[in-house]
Amino acid sequence: MTKAKPMHHDVIVLGAGLAGLAAARDLSAAGTDVLLLEARDRVGGRVEQTRTPDGRTVQLGGEVVGHAHTAYLRLAEELGLELVPSYVAEPGRVTRATPEGLSAGDPPHWFGPGDAGQHAWLSRQFSDLAATVDPDDPWSHPEADALDRLSVADWLRSCHATPAVVRLWEIGQLGLAGGSYERISLLAALRKSAVVPGTGDYDYDSWEGLRLAAGSATLAEVMGRELGPRIRLGSPVAAVDVRPGRCAVRLVTGEVVTAAAVVSALPVGPLRSVAVTGVNEARLTSLHRQRQAVAAKFAAVYDRPFWRADALNGLSETEGVLGSTWPQNEGVLSALVPPERYGVLLGTPPQLRTPELLSEIATMFGAEALRPTACHLRLWGTDPWTQGYVTQWPPGEVMAVGPLHGTHEPPFYVCGSDQWVAGYMEGAVRTGRAAAEEALRRG
Ligand SMILES: Cc1cc2nc3c(=O)[nH]c(=O)nc-3n(C[C@H](O)[C@H](O)[C@H](O)COP(=O)(O)OP(=O)(O)OC[C@H]3O[C@@H](n4cnc5c(N)ncnc54)[C@H](O)[C@@H]3O)c2cc1C
Repeated sequence: MTKAKPMHHDVIVLGAGLAGLAAARDLSAAGTDVLLLEARDRVGGRVEQTRTPDGRTVQLGGEVVGHAHTAYLRLAEELGLELVPSYVAEPGRVTRATPEGLSAGDPPHWFGPGDAGQHAWLSRQFSDLAATVDPDDPWSHPEADALDRLSVADWLRSCHATPAVVRLWEIGQLGLAGGSYERISLLAALRKSAVVPGTGDYDYDSWEGLRLAAGSATLAEVMGRELGPRIRLGSPVAAVDVRPGRCAVRLVTGEVVTAAAVVSALPVGPLRSVAVTGVNEARLTSLHRQRQAVAAKFAAVYDRPFWRADALNGLSETEGVLGSTWPQNEGVLSALVPPERYGVLLGTPPQLRTPELLSEIATMFGAEALRPTACHLRLWGTDPWTQGYVTQWPPGEVMAVGPLHGTHEPPFYVCGSDQWVAGYMEGAVRTGRAAAEEALRRG
């Protein structure tokens, strides 16, 4: 009996998240014979949505984009998908909850005289410093090493920030669930801010002001339908051997498929479990030390946005297990559990998790929060095919990962939101399309 010859393609793309789908779509549109291998039984990766019985979409992963997310916006337009304003446009006051108090609107309840002015001044200092960083090449900054060694919180204190101001920056950062500013590199934070020049450490409208009207997973679903049989679901990759002209990809089943080039669109965690050979050791070291913030997402579905009756916008920053809430759709609240509290959530008996998270929401928005029609808790940080949420850069890490970050070693190309400055759906689309362009350029 003769052994079956492995299937040979022009390019194999690993991972059908937004990055892999965007890369495969462009490769396919250019006439390339592309195969997209995906471990799960669905496309989309960290974007996933479900629907309520009355037809509202519920986002379980990546949700909003910003006016500055040009690659994402362009792709949405190409696919004919409509963007609408996100929660950022929602009128009403933001709620802040800490163990000792609760406040709606600015300033937060722990601020004293002078804190608001100092916060505004520090925001300007941060923006000015960010303007000195090239987001594509932060390593070239004359003070790169020193800026990378300092945490954002240490920088704030070095500028004589009061504890109240540090606390406001921290509660906002934990609301975004990217990891405590006590453990985030200043250079990484400046790099992220430099991508979207604005005011302060995070301009919400630039980063989060829009959402797809049909739900963010639609972007993946539409690309998935376009690619059709070029995608193989339920096909986890175990090993990749990179050789000029012939790369071999082995699935966990033992099956081998080959191609002239490979595009890895895997998150950094799962990529560490894939045996990669034929790639420069320095590149693998750089790729393998990248990390992600582990986070969970909670979505509570209600009949109506009851928080509006109190002139609240549903947006909150909290020091409970939850880091933040915001309205993702009419009557649907999103919430994130940041990395610093993820262990607490995992340690909570499963049957108590939802009631306890709801009771935190009720403390802020009233007893109606205890009566959702449905709840969804997605533990992305311990999802085997994701192992995280967005990129995390502790002090020293920008320099340690180094300028190989986000670069290619043909015929091995790398993309995915982890290969951009700070994760996000923009990072996935931008790096996915850039990897395809580079692979096509190299033929
Ligand atoms: C809870 C949550 C909220 C978020 N909110 C936002 C937001 O509001 N706005 C925003 O811009 N971003 C947000 N993000 C981040 C954003 O969703 C991601 O950065 C982006 O979707 C990642 O796309 P990707 O293609 O790089 O990776 P992924 O979507 O993770 O795709 C990688 C794919 O690789 C597959 N895979 C893994 N291992 C293997 C293997 N061995 N073999 C084959 N396939 C494999 C995975 O199953 C997955 O489908 C959020 C993320 C999470 C988790």
